[in-house]
Amino acid sequence: MLIKTLLECKRCGYVWQPRSKVIYICPNCKSKYWNEEKTELECFVCGHRWRQKSLQLPKYCPNCHCANWNVPEAIELVKATRELEEFLRTGSWEEKSM
Ligand SMILES: [Zn+2]
Ligand SMILES: [Zn+2]
Repeated sequence: MLIKTLLECKRCGYVWQPRSKVIYICPNCKSKYWNEEKTELECFVCGHRWRQKSLQLPKYCPNCHCANWNVPEAIELVKATRELEEFLRTGSWEEKSM
């Protein structure tokens, strides 16, 4: 029995007719992740962007290794922590000159 459904690679856009029911790789770009959306992740802490390789979200940002990379509130927390560290180090709040 022929499978009449056409498949489309989400990575390269290649459309093909599968000969088997289980498709491991895209015949065009050979990507194993042909059925997964291209997703770009961004670390809220350091702003680093990277390509997601698995369906599971990474625990840490590959750049700053911060576990709160996907928590927007973490930015404020990091800023507050830095300001507090600065305060403890210098004994005064940093003057912000704009
Ligand atoms: Zn492809
Ligand atoms: Zn980061």
